[in-house]
Amino acid sequence: MRAGRTGAGLAAALIATAVTLAGCTSAPAPDRDTQVQVVATFSVLADIATEIGGDRARVHSMVPRTADPHEYTPRPTDMSRAADADVLVWNGLNMETGNDWFADLAAASGHDLDDPTVVEAAAGITPMYLDLAEAPAPGDPVPDADRLNPHAFLDPVVGMAYARNICDGLIAADPAGADYYRARTADYLDRLTVIDAQYQAVIGALPPDRRLLVTSENAFQYPAARYGLETGYLWAIDTEGQGSPSQVMALIDLVRTSGVPALFIESNVAPRPLRTVSDDTGVPIAGTVYSDALGDDDSPAATYLDLLEHNIVTIGDGLG
Ligand SMILES: [Zn+2]
Repeated sequence: MRAGRTGAGLAAALIATAVTLAGCTSAPAPDRDTQVQVVATFSVLADIATEIGGDRARVHSMVPRTADPHEYTPRPTDMSRAADADVLVWNGLNMETGNDWFADLAAASGHDLDDPTVVEAAAGITPMYLDLAEAPAPGDPVPDADRLNPHAFLDPVVGMAYARNICDGLIAADPAGADYYRARTADYLDRLTVIDAQYQAVIGALPPDRRLLVTSENAFQYPAARYGLETGYLWAIDTEGQGSPSQVMALIDLVRTSGVPALFIESNVAPRPLRTVSDDTGVPIAGTVYSDALGDDDSPAATYLDLLEHNIVTIGDGLG
């Protein structure tokens, strides 16, 4: 449904929606020709867009589910889908690195990054930097963009901003669906509010000397800052060298001196470096957390909300 091309199809979609809202028990199946075509860079964003877009949107994730989104080479099918897309969704905050693969794809597929239908999901949030425990204070020098921490969505409160931004993009492409998207967004925000309370409760219940989250990548900086955890890690971001001897030795030192009771492995990293830390210190790897991608459909992180819940339950069980 690209604007201006399928007015009749859009009218049909509106009628279908009206019938659904009226409570008809035999609502027609979504018509793929009239749905808003959404292309998201990776699985987390695609899932949020799917939840908010409902039957009015058809969503494609370029980076396959379970794969790392930091570096990606779009396939020809991604390019053709992006060319046909009404809405593009990307993370921003330097998530889509690898020679700015998203910016290149957007330009090559005829989209303008400034268009409201090209949604930077993290727009408007306070960025964090890999080498700083807090965001820079006003007036402080701002680090280079390649030191941005892109994993803002691991904080459920930031997830609310992502949902609102994606809602705005869908409305820009499909104004007739504004009430529909806003209602679905409100429901989604309610669910994120419950998860936010869960994070507060679980982390708030941890003894202060156990509030250290040790993972391979420094992906959990945003929820750690919000809820009061320290982070320990082998490498700052997956695009760097992973598991060098000096990284392993530094983390072994931290684990030993901190007395932390558990380590956590991410679903999308090679486990060997963290296993070395575990073997050397005797501190167990307490579970798998998801930092960059959803899991398979049969995993505990098949959706973004499931990912958030699984992570906090795993962290709470391991550190509690
Ligand atoms: Zn990552």
